[in-house]
Amino acid sequence: MSNRKDWDTYFLDIAYMASTRSRCNRRHVGAVLVQGKKLLGTAYNGAPMGVPDCTEAGCMLVEEIELKVVENIEEVIRKQRCIRTIHAEQNLLLFTDREDREGSTVYVTDQPCWTCANMLANSGVIEIVFHRGYPKDHEKVSHLMVDRGIVFRRMEGYEPPPGTVSDVVN
Ligand SMILES: [Zn+2]
Ligand SMILES: [Zn+2]
Repeated sequence: MSNRKDWDTYFLDIAYMASTRSRCNRRHVGAVLVQGKKLLGTAYNGAPMGVPDCTEAGCMLVEEIELKVVENIEEVIRKQRCIRTIHAEQNLLLFTDREDREGSTVYVTDQPCWTCANMLANSGVIEIVFHRGYPKDHEKVSHLMVDRGIVFRRMEGYEPPPGTVSDVVN
């Protein structure tokens, strides 16, 4: 037995390393683009270049209402979300080339939200591997990936590298 990491773990570790660059206190997300076994890009969620980020200007919070059905009872949940940042997946698309993305895999610390998933579905990637779940958009994103023929899988039993997960407000 060797201690050598498998490729999934290796690239997800790098996504977690990238996430530590995030300066949004509510969520640290990292994403990497991989073609074959070659790393083509890394990204994290953050404000656009040259404008104040969440640690300087505070998070830009919006309140969202989520409808949750538990045992046939509808429950309205209010949640706050920071919209100051460009999501890691979107930054990854902004900083990579279409040609590189064709047939590639995205490793991302968190399951993509609906908007990111929709963009990834049209980006040329053929596989998305994530670690932490995002129940809110899980169902519609899973359907989209099936329809689009994109492999969409969660890394079960994965442990992020020590020191890469910070306590964030949820
Ligand atoms: Zn923020
Ligand atoms: Zn997103």
